[in-house]
Amino acid sequence: TDEIIETDVVVVGGGPVGLFQVFELGLLEMKCHVVDSLRNVGGQCMELYPQKPIYDIPAVPVYSSAELTENLLKQNHPFKPVYHLGEVVTKVEKQEDGSFHVETDLGTRFHCKAVIIASGMGSFDARPMRVPGIEKFENKQLFYRVRDPEFFAGKNIVICGGGDSALDWTLNLVGKAESVILIHRRDGFRAAPARVAEMKQLCEDWQMQFVVGSVTGFEEKDGVMTEVRVTGNDGIVRRIPLDCLLVFFGLQPKVGPIAEWGLELDRKQIVVDTARFETNIPGIFAVGDCNTYPGKKKLILSGFHECALAAFAASQYVFPDKKVFLQYTTTSPKLHKALGVP
Ligand code: FAD
Repeated sequence: TDEIIETDVVVVGGGPVGLFQVFELGLLEMKCHVVDSLRNVGGQCMELYPQKPIYDIPAVPVYSSAELTENLLKQNHPFKPVYHLGEVVTKVEKQEDGSFHVETDLGTRFHCKAVIIASGMGSFDARPMRVPGIEKFENKQLFYRVRDPEFFAGKNIVICGGGDSALDWTLNLVGKAESVILIHRRDGFRAAPARVAEMKQLCEDWQMQFVVGSVTGFEEKDGVMTEVRVTGNDGIVRRIPLDCLLVFFGLQPKVGPIAEWGLELDRKQIVVDTARFETNIPGIFAVGDCNTYPGKKKLILSGFHECALAAFAASQYVFPDKKVFLQYTTTSPKLHKALGVP
């Protein structure tokens, strides 16, 4: 579509820091849209350690990542932010008038007065299968995520991986696909034991097959992949015919497109000052794990502090003619109104 979303600020990344940024912007009456490449908010915490307790969030002795994320969302609620999930911000361009054009890989476009990058370790990408030449089948016969399970109906499917995604899609596609073969490099899984048991039962019932080994090659005919070669731990190479290959090797963080926006970087981190958390491009700020400055510590609480100062600095671009004062949430009627406090 031709629609361009007008907003005050675009926040790149919905990890804990990006989420708290929404709150700090809201207190200063700035509207924002948040974009995250993952399908859910919460960043590293939800992706890498959802069940592990965090002990160093001020005034919360023990917090799970899920609780932290849920409460950050709740805290943002009065400001009605819009979250765009499963989209990667690919472009940030400064316009002649100092405003910004922001675009995602799915074609969502924004026009805004300031951009705050809270991209952490980067956007999470599927870890690719390292078989020379196989990449040419990507999104044709080789897939790292399933958009529409119906696409695989009636096809011969090989699934690689030993985590939850591999198991979930195996169980989902058995019965739907013509055949399903799961391949994992060992007979042990990083997935819910109940799901593993279910998969083994399906094997015993001859509804699918499980093979220990790794894909080490493929055959093609007229540009179509016809089979994969699977090397077992015994060194024997088996040939498995297929229509589609689904690979779930987990996610890896990638700095990705941020490296192309003209920002000054130091060892892949965005250089900012500590008064405003602004980058070398006026109007673009960076907070949380993605930035660097003397003394930087990659902690959630540091990120939270950075959000407050970045919001004050960003307000100068959103409201150039207004003087923005510090107010307390305890006593300010204006903030109470913004927060919807009766
Ligand atoms: P992230 O959490 O990394 O979130 C960034 C988000 O931005 C991601 O969701 C990513 O998908 C998204 N993104 C990146 N680029 C793009 C793009 N171009 N387009 C769209 N989206 C994009 N910290 C503590 O304070 N206490 C702890 O006890 C603690 N324990 C930890 C334990 C482990 C195992 C790990 C790995 C980290 C721990 N940390 C802890 C560190 C803490 O998780 C990070 O400091 C925190 O997650 C940083 O938040 P963030 O929002 O800056 O970045």
